[in-house]
Amino acid sequence: MESRIVSIVAHVNATHACSAHGAGAGCAPLIADVVLCDAGSDHVEWAVCARWLRENSDARAWLRTHPVEAAGLDPV
Ligand SMILES: [Zn+2]
Repeated sequence: MESRIVSIVAHVNATHACSAHGAGAGCAPLIADVVLCDAGSDHVEWAVCARWLRENSDARAWLRTHPVEAAGLDPV
């Protein structure tokens, strides 16, 4: 499914399981909240771990072009 990153900010929402890898993956800590839009919704809110930020090419590209927001996250 095609999705687009709207924003990535430091994790503050109430989600306790990694939205990318699922509760079973045991990702900890969650470090960022990601807002996506896709074909089904223009506001999908995720909470993700550092691994997702490192491994997801869309996230890496977004953070490269948003250095202020990137600086507000823990180093990854
Ligand atoms: Zn994860």
